[in-house]
This record gives sequence, structure tokens and C-alpha cells, in this order.
Amino acid sequence: MMTKENAGKTSLNGSKKKKLTKKQTVKIHNLFRFAIQLLFFIFLPSAYSSAYAGIKYIFTKMGTGELIEITAFIRILLLLLIYTAVFGRFFCGFSCAFGSLGDWVYSFVQWVLKKMKKKPRRLPERLLELLPNLKYLVLGGSLLMCFFGKYGMFSGTNPWDVFSMLHALTFRFDRYAAGLLLFLLILIGMAAEERFFCKFLCPMGAVFSLVPVLTPFSLRRNRPACLKKCSACSKVCPSRIGLPNDGELKVEGDCFQCQKCIGVCPKANIHCGMILLKGDEYWFTAVRALLLAGLMVYLGV
Ligand code: SF4
Ligand code: SF4
Ligand code: SF4
Repeated sequence: MMTKENAGKTSLNGSKKKKLTKKQTVKIHNLFRFAIQLLFFIFLPSAYSSAYAGIKYIFTKMGTGELIEITAFIRILLLLLIYTAVFGRFFCGFSCAFGSLGDWVYSFVQWVLKKMKKKPRRLPERLLELLPNLKYLVLGGSLLMCFFGKYGMFSGTNPWDVFSMLHALTFRFDRYAAGLLLFLLILIGMAAEERFFCKFLCPMGAVFSLVPVLTPFSLRRNRPACLKKCSACSKVCPSRIGLPNDGELKVEGDCFQCQKCIGVCPKANIHCGMILLKGDEYWFTAVRALLLAGLMVYLGV
């Protein structure tokens, strides 16, 4: 059924312009996002681990009192922090290979459950409220280990290393039994809860969630214009965010910029701080992706 919001959206094939339904529009947006995620996954898979290596390097050097040099890892870290401060966590939503893996595992399981006509189960509400704090403990714990020169004790336990080996089709796990086990547990978590690792465990995600984001490109909604009792955007959101209202300076650090809320809103009521931008325009998404990819390639990710 055609809604007021999707009126005006058109398909590009054929001379006669055909209006798309909201469902079709969301489907095309999902495919577009998938294509971008896949390209980053194939060609630039190690940005998140490189950036985190930069943070670990800083704390290791602080612990030994040595000079912190601007290494390649630090450059990538700075790029992602500055980029996130400007555009929000677009990197997490569209470019991080580990985040994309989580999206695909979860979507696949949801698809299987749908085929089997089974209802997906969510973690208990209380747990969903508490678990996001865990990522700060992971971050704090690993940085303390770096500071005191003990990080080496955990060699072979990093699931990101296991993922990198799998991505490179290297299957030498002799020293990575613990890392492999953790990786498998994370995969189970990814299957059970959308963005499980990102929300609950990722130390790089903890850092990104603390970055203050400039308001022009962060998402917000015109709350007074919302439908009564509507919470469709929060329900579809992997982080269950209630978006800030227009005019508020608050920015949600746990927003992955996945754009799902924009697609689901029945009133087209969600947009960037710069109100003329909705935030899910194809050109705007493409510009952000190309800019990020270009800068990463320039820095040798
Ligand atoms: S939270 Fe971590 S794993 Fe998830 S997308 Fe962001 S950097 Fe990647
Ligand atoms: S659904 Fe919206 S608010 Fe939630 S993470 Fe995605 S873009 Fe952010
Ligand atoms: S989905 Fe749209 S109308 Fe519904 S609460 Fe969110 S912003 Fe408001």
C-alpha cells in the first residue's frame, strides 16, 4: 500500500516511473548497506583492530614512560576518532568487518527462524540494560594490562586475531585455542542478540561510544510530530535507543548509524541535526563510505 511518506520515491527502470512501496524502499536500503559492508569486509577488514592496537600502544608507552610516536596504528586511530566525531559511528554501521559479521550472523539466524515459523527470543530486559556496561570493563581491563606491561600474558586469547586469521584463510590455531573458543562463543552471542559483540563486549565500541559527536550529522527526531504511542524506531534499533529530540544537544553514543530507524518511521520523522538531511540518502551514505575508504587506503589500512 502506498503511504504518504513514500510518495515521490521512484524506481529507475523503464521510461514510466514507478513508485516504490515503503517495504521495497527499505529492502533497497538494506541491499545498499549490505553492498557497502561487503566491500569493506573484503578489502578493508582490519581497521577496527588496527585502531585498537593504537590505543593499546598508547597505554603501553605510558606505562613504560616512553615517547608515543605517531605510528600507522595511531594514524588509523586518529582517523576513526575524528571521523566518528563528525559523522557519528558510521564506521560501526557500515565499515567494520566484525560488526558486519555480527549483522550477517544475526540476519541469517532470523531468516532461518522465520522459515521454521519460530519466534526469536530476546535476552531478559534487565540483562539488556546491564550488559552494555561490560564493554567499558573490557576496555578498562585491557588498557590496565597494557599500562602494567601484562598484556602479553593474554597472547592467543584475542578473538579478533582468530577472525583475522580466518579472513586471511590461515588456519593455524595451535597457539589460539582460547581465542578460537572465545570467537565461537561470540558467534553464538551474535546469533542470539543483534550486535551482541558491539553492544556488550567491544572495547573499540566503548571508545567510540564516548566520542562526542557533532550535532549536524547525528540522528534525532521531531518528537511532538510522532504518532501517539509509537516506538517503532526504538523497537527496530539494535541498541534500543530512544532518539534525542530536535534541539537537544544530546547524542546517543551507542547509535551505530545503521539507519534502520529512519526506514521504519511511519512519519518520516527522523533526520540529522542538519534538518534538510534525513541521514539515509544514498548519495550521503556513498559520500561517507567513499571518504572513509579513501582515507583508510591513504593511511595504508
Ligand atoms: S562496536 Fe566494535 S566490533 Fe562493533 S562495529 Fe564498532 S568497532 Fe566494530
Ligand atoms: S536504529 Fe537508528 S538509533 Fe538505532 S543504531 Fe540504528 S541509526 Fe542509531
Ligand atoms: S518511529 Fe517515527 S513516529 Fe514512531 S516514535 Fe520513532 S520517530 Fe516517532
